[in-house]
Amino acid sequence: MSDIQIGGLVSFTTIDYPGKLAAVLFLVGCPIRCAYCSNPHLIAVGPGEYDPERVFEWIKSRVGKLEAIVFSGGEALMHGPALYDYMRRVRELGFLIGLHTNGFYPENLNAATDLIDWIGIDYKATQTNYEKLTGVNIAYDRMIKSLDVWAATHKPAEVRVTVDPRFVSTDDLYDIARDVAARGFKNFAVQKYIPHFEDDAHGTTPAMRNAFFIDENLRNEINSMFETVAWRE
Ligand code: SF4
Repeated sequence: MSDIQIGGLVSFTTIDYPGKLAAVLFLVGCPIRCAYCSNPHLIAVGPGEYDPERVFEWIKSRVGKLEAIVFSGGEALMHGPALYDYMRRVRELGFLIGLHTNGFYPENLNAATDLIDWIGIDYKATQTNYEKLTGVNIAYDRMIKSLDVWAATHKPAEVRVTVDPRFVSTDDLYDIARDVAARGFKNFAVQKYIPHFEDDAHGTTPAMRNAFFIDENLRNEINSMFETVAWRE
């Protein structure tokens, strides 16, 4: 049986699973190529740096100390059945299972819904700009299918938008929020785009990146659509 490939690990976090003490495993491999990727070292498929069995032994040692294990990436669902097996073993230890996903694998998400308690899912742009941002023309449709797969579970989720002004306008953010709310999601997050390499290639300015966060009308209207909205500056 093939195993998951783990490229990174955060041993303690209070912000990656709502209200729970958690650890995060970063699995290698991602099928898309976001212009602002913050984990470029994780997107190529290859051997992970961490032995999954040693990590599992470490997770066992966290019983009673942590409440949740979050699978992130890259795109963890790329690992298919090996991921489900690993999640199942972690779940049997009594942990909640979280997933950070870009939504590219609705079939795999559907196969794992019983194993996962909460997801954070990216809604990266409107359909018009999705391919430009991700480099993949089917990424938008697959993300929408994943939203609908998860909505049907009625389990909690956070839908996130990183507001990179190259790909998302304030009007786009309204449109995305309306669509997410219409699909029945209660928790939304707006995340500031922070360039990782200050080499000016991104061509954005602090004012452009701040625009989403200082517009009171925008904030109030989006806040009114959800139970919670996190504005992450
Ligand atoms: S989905 Fe995440 S890991 Fe994959 S390219 Fe985009 S930002 Fe990077």
